[in-house]
Order: sequence, then C-alpha cells, then structure tokens
Amino acid sequence: MRLLILEDDPLLGDALSTGLRQAGHVIDWFRDGDEADQAIRSATYDAIVLDLGLPHTDGLVWLRRWREREVHLPVLILTARDGVDQRIAGLDSGADDYLIKPITVEELAARLRAMLRRSTGRAQTEWVHGALRFDPATRQVHWRDQPVELTPRETVLLETLLKHPQRVLSRAQLQEQLYDWSGGEPESNTLEVHVHHLRRKIHSGVVRTVRGVGYALGAADTGGEA
Ligand code: CA
Repeated sequence: MRLLILEDDPLLGDALSTGLRQAGHVIDWFRDGDEADQAIRSATYDAIVLDLGLPHTDGLVWLRRWREREVHLPVLILTARDGVDQRIAGLDSGADDYLIKPITVEELAARLRAMLRRSTGRAQTEWVHGALRFDPATRQVHWRDQPVELTPRETVLLETLLKHPQRVLSRAQLQEQLYDWSGGEPESNTLEVHVHHLRRKIHSGVVRTVRGVGYALGAADTGGEA
C-alpha cells in the first residue's frame, strides 16, 4: 500500500512511518496539512492516516475539504480525542475508521488492510490470480502453492499489479508506487529490473509488457494451472 500519514508529533510520526515501512508499505509522512494536501493532489495513495490535533488547521477541517473536493480515498483518523461525540463527528465528516491513541503499528496495519478490503470490494483476505496468491497481511506470495521469496520492492510491484488485474499501468504509475515521496528519482532501468526479477522468480508470463504503455498482470492461467 502507498499511504499518506498526516501527523505533527515527530516521535509518533517517525514510529508509524518506520513500522509501516517495515511491514512493506510505501509511506509519505507529512507534519503539515498544506504539504499533505499538495501531495494528495499530485500522487496516488491507497489510504490516509489522519491526526486531528494539527497546528493551524484541524484534521477534521482537512477531511471535510477533501470530501467536498470529492477525494474518495479511505481515511483512518488516529487521534487522542476519545469522546463519543468526537468519534461520531469524525465518522460523519467522512472518515472510514477512527482509532484512539495509543495503538500499536500492528493494529494500525490490520485496520488499514480491513479498510482497503472494504474500499476495493474484496471480502477475502487473500488475493488470488490464477495460480498466484498474495496475502497482504503477511506479504507472502505463493505460485502454484510454493512460497516465492521477493524483496519488499518486488512485492510492492506485484501488489500494485494485482490491485488492478484488468488494467495496463504506465511506467510512471508503477514507479510512483515503488518509491517514497522523498526517496529521490529512481534510476531509469530500476522498474525493468524489478519486472525481470518477478518473471524469473515466479513465471516468465506473470507480467506482460504493453509496448509504449507500460505493464499489466499476465493472464490468470499463465503457464497453466498446477
Ligand atoms: Ca497532533
């Protein structure tokens, strides 16, 4: 998942970013609402983790603005405000989930997975594409019931393709999912290298090259079922 975190507390923001990155996600962490808002306008995210007590502009105000602007991204509020009225206000302002601090990164990650399942209309916890299976909780990939060892970036690339099994994704769209906002420009051949590794480790047909456009997931029965 590519996640945007808006959290002004430096210790908590750092802990969340680090923990969620270790769980295999791509994280852009902002301490300032205006910067987060700019990022939402220019990048593609799977979900937002939103603190409410922010300097200058309250998190609820940001949430209402995004919903008015028809930003439909799933939003999880993570706040110290634990009153029932405050929780109701958060959900009624357009949040998809509401968590009270303190929480563990493990629970936050599980809530985000559940939220993403709902937003993508998937009830099952495992993603299946022919002989390929991906478990977003453990980040484990299986091909024909055999575990496949992938690096975190290879896993993110495969996850992105699996999220849109019917679509051709451009190089720019895929690269955006692979690298953090602050991560610098990827070398031009890096995406090709990751695609090459996926084909070598899973199956040569698992990723299709669509000339002049980008890449797509291979046919579900690539190479035949086991
Ligand atoms: Ca705060």
